[in-house]
Amino acid sequence: MKLLENKVSIITGATRGIGKGIAELFADQGSHVIFTYVSSDEKARELEAELEAKGVKARGYKFNVADYKACEDMAAEVVKDFGSIDVVVNNAGITRDNLLMRMSEEQWDEVINTNLKSVFNMTKAVQRTMLKQRKGSIVNMSSVVGVKGNAGQANYAASKAGLLGFTKSVALELGSRNIRCNAIAPGFIETEMTGALDEATVQGWRDAIPLKRGGTTEDVANLALFLASDMSAYITGQTINVDGGMLT
Ligand code: NDP
Repeated sequence: MKLLENKVSIITGATRGIGKGIAELFADQGSHVIFTYVSSDEKARELEAELEAKGVKARGYKFNVADYKACEDMAAEVVKDFGSIDVVVNNAGITRDNLLMRMSEEQWDEVINTNLKSVFNMTKAVQRTMLKQRKGSIVNMSSVVGVKGNAGQANYAASKAGLLGFTKSVALELGSRNIRCNAIAPGFIETEMTGALDEATVQGWRDAIPLKRGGTTEDVANLALFLASDMSAYITGQTINVDGGMLT
């Protein structure tokens, strides 16, 4: 028995990295996958084909998750075409790093809108459907940086910490309707993006982690699957770190 058989999952930002890992694992576990992206058209079409080859329906939507109306329109179309929305993984996120002294208003706004307002947008967009269904799982992608803070990332840390407060509040508001909301706080996850970094620097990071390695997208996807599925039916309002023990 697959853990997400015939479920309908929306995953934001799935053309690369962690979101893509989640989309693949969810499809392996029988979920239809609706994913979003903002620029990578070719990768989106490739992912649709890859997921459909696993025997589920897949559809990529191109829009900015910071756009409230676009999120609402997408969710309405998904309900019309798929009949339900069981899982939402709010994964899309960006960084615009700078010391506070040099951080522009634009860098602040862009990160808060993409990483935090987007989660408000998507949660609002699916709330009514999940309330009617009397079930749903919302998974928000935070970061260890949201738990701990990080020099040079005040905007990103604020967005990821904001997500944690949002997650707990939604869990409190919607728990009585069997809608769960949890957050994942990944540590250092090695993706194509981190592959471009200086190897000596990256090795230094690995050495400082108790499990002595960077995380993989699968490490994060496994937790997303657990939180999305009925395996976590009695878990809500939590933040779970996937960080190899980094914050221990
Ligand atoms: P990537 O940069 O590899 O991928 C980001 C994805 O989000 C892409 O699919 C991108 O689409 C999409 N996206 C970006 N901006 C928007 C937008 N405005 N609207 C819609 N989609 C958008 O990210 P990662 O896989 O590294 O990270 C995923 C999440 O995990 C993020 O929230 C990040 O903050 C968090 N995280 C990552 C860690 C890491 O070590 N990698 C550690 C801790 C947390 P497109 O391809 O079209 O640009």
